[in-house]
Amino acid sequence: MKIVLATRNAKKVPEMRAILAEAGVEAEVLALDAFPDAPEVPETEATFVGNARLKAKAIAEHTGLPAVADDSGLSVDELRGMPGVLSARWSGRFGAQNQDRANLELVLDQIADTPQERRGAQFVCAAVLVMPDGTERSAEGVLSGHLVGEPRGENGFGYDPVFVPKGLDRTTAELSAEEKNAISHRGIAFRALAKELAELV
Ligand code: IMP
Repeated sequence: MKIVLATRNAKKVPEMRAILAEAGVEAEVLALDAFPDAPEVPETEATFVGNARLKAKAIAEHTGLPAVADDSGLSVDELRGMPGVLSARWSGRFGAQNQDRANLELVLDQIADTPQERRGAQFVCAAVLVMPDGTERSAEGVLSGHLVGEPRGENGFGYDPVFVPKGLDRTTAELSAEEKNAISHRGIAFRALAKELAELV
C-alpha cells in the first residue's frame, strides 16, 4: 500500500515511516515531492483539524491514494490560545527569512511581563487521514508545558527554543529528535492515526 504525506516538510516523512512501521502498517510513505503537480492548499480554516482536513482531502483527490495531513501550532494560555493556527505567520512576514525567530520574539515580547505561573502553553497537532473513497479519520496530540524568557537550544524549529515540556527542564530545542518525537504533539497524533489506519486496511 502507498500513502501520501501531504507535507513539504521533509523532516515529517521519516517520522511517519517509523510510526507506521511500529503500528504494524506495511505502507510506502510518499512525500509531496513525488507529485510535482499537487495543488498548494491554503490554510483557510479556523482550526488545526479543519486545515489538516483541507490538505488531506485535496491530496487524496489529486493522487487517488490515502493521504495524511497535519496542522500544528503553539497555543499560549496568556494569549487566549493564540498564535494557534496563525503560528507560522504570527509576526506577519510569512515566507520571510528568519520567520521562526521573528514569530518567537513577538510571542516573548507579548508575554514579557507575564509571571511564571501564567506562562503555560501547549503545542497542538491535528492529523487527518482521507482514504480514496472519502473515508476520514482524525487524531489530535497535545504537548503541555511553559514558555521560558530566553531562547535555548539548536534543535527542532519554530518555537522549540522557548518551550519547556511539563516535567522537563530542557526546551524542546535541547532535546534530540528521538526524545522530542517520543513526547511531541505530532508524535501523539501520528501514532493515534496509525492505529486507525491499521484498523482500516
Ligand atoms: P505546520 O503545522 O508545520 O504548518 O507548523 C505550523 C507552525 O507551528 C510552525 O511554523 C511553528 O511555528 C509552529 N510549530 C508547530 N509544531 C512545532 C514544534 O514541534 N516545535 C516548534 N514549533 C512548532
